[in-house]
Amino acid sequence: MPRKTYDCAVLGLGGFGSSAAYHVARRGISVLGIEQFTPAHQFGSSHGETRIIRQAYFEHPDYVPLLLRGYELFDELEQVSGKRLFERSGLFLSGMPGGETIQGAHLAKAQHGIPLETVDASHYRERFPGYRIPDGFEVVYEPVAGFLHVEETVRTHLEQAEKAGATLVFDSRVISWRKQSDEFVITTDKAEFIARKLIVAAGAWTRDLLASLDVPLQVRRKVLCWHPVRSNVYDVAAGAPCFFFEMPYAAFYGFPSIDHQTVKLAEHSGGKDIGSPQELIRTELDGDGDAVRRFIRDCMPELTDRAASQAVCMYTMSPDHHFIVDEFPATTGLYFGAGFSGHGFKFTSVIGEILADFAEKGETDLPIDFLRLQRFRTA
Ligand SMILES: Cc1cc2nc3c(=O)[nH]c(=O)nc-3n(C[C@H](O)[C@H](O)[C@H](O)COP(=O)(O)OP(=O)(O)OC[C@H]3O[C@@H](n4cnc5c(N)ncnc54)[C@H](O)[C@@H]3O)c2cc1C
Repeated sequence: MPRKTYDCAVLGLGGFGSSAAYHVARRGISVLGIEQFTPAHQFGSSHGETRIIRQAYFEHPDYVPLLLRGYELFDELEQVSGKRLFERSGLFLSGMPGGETIQGAHLAKAQHGIPLETVDASHYRERFPGYRIPDGFEVVYEPVAGFLHVEETVRTHLEQAEKAGATLVFDSRVISWRKQSDEFVITTDKAEFIARKLIVAAGAWTRDLLASLDVPLQVRRKVLCWHPVRSNVYDVAAGAPCFFFEMPYAAFYGFPSIDHQTVKLAEHSGGKDIGSPQELIRTELDGDGDAVRRFIRDCMPELTDRAASQAVCMYTMSPDHHFIVDEFPATTGLYFGAGFSGHGFKFTSVIGEILADFAEKGETDLPIDFLRLQRFRTA
């Protein structure tokens, strides 16, 4: 029997691949998605209950138009699925007034009119009970920020992709792909597939599938910690927000308690660089959580400093810590997103749409020039 030729194949069905498969499928394009593990698994970068989503983007104001589109797409996804994926809890950012976080948030507000309140120091306690905000810090509050249920978002993108006609295969590892005339031949550990376009969304495994990408991507081991609460001040039901602290010794972020028993928090800075995902140690290592414990003692008196549990996850860092989204050099019809550098999940909806634009028409109208590969060539 002749093999089916798909219009598009998506390699990797984690945060970005699940969204890309959905956005391609909903356009009526035949799409195959291939994933080495199960749906919404714990072995990559898209697990651990929650991810912060916000618009006053201190990392670079050019992300804001993408976030605005991303918000619309998450709203749509909630509507078509009937699921609640995005909790609009708000978020406060805190740090020294001249620091990257506070300055960057003000810049995003100035350039894009993002709602952002500066909170007067005399109101810290009443606005954010349970936090000790260091002297001299500035605090800004973003009411449209919040968090996404991460595994549920991946699962929902996958379910909606299948509903729209996508074929998804799991427990199938892509070993290689090659271009043969106008088509891609994809070989997994179980079968071979043919597609006219290819989207690679392999996260920390990008190097395995795009070996000739000449931009270094560094995989980093990161630890998430859940610490028991002493009271209900951090409870999402009590109106507690997400938080981000740029401390003099490291940066920390966390979420309101969703189980009424623990708060999930982590150090955004730091982490141990590893050679590949295969080298990742998922069990607890000496020193894991030390910085978080110090932060808790300094700033979160209503948390106990002994963790109830922890999880290990991977950041995939690009050289400038900004994403790379582009057509692959010298391979027409191959598109990829990589190097999401520990801040990508909130963009999964919009970058899935962008990758679908590429697969459909070779281009996108969304403003992503600052994310293209070219920046490393001219640098
Ligand atoms: C601890 C932690 C906290 C974070 N916090 C935030 C946050 O608060 N807000 C935010 O916006 N972002 C956050 N991020 C970043 C965000 O989660 C990631 O940028 C995003 O999830 C990466 O998605 P991905 O699709 O690139 O990777 P993944 O979700 O890991 O997906 C890649 C997929 O490709 C599959 N794959 C790879 N190779 C193959 C192969 N050969 N064959 C078949 N399948 C393959 C993998 O199995 C995997 O499922 C955080 C990340 C971590 C680790």
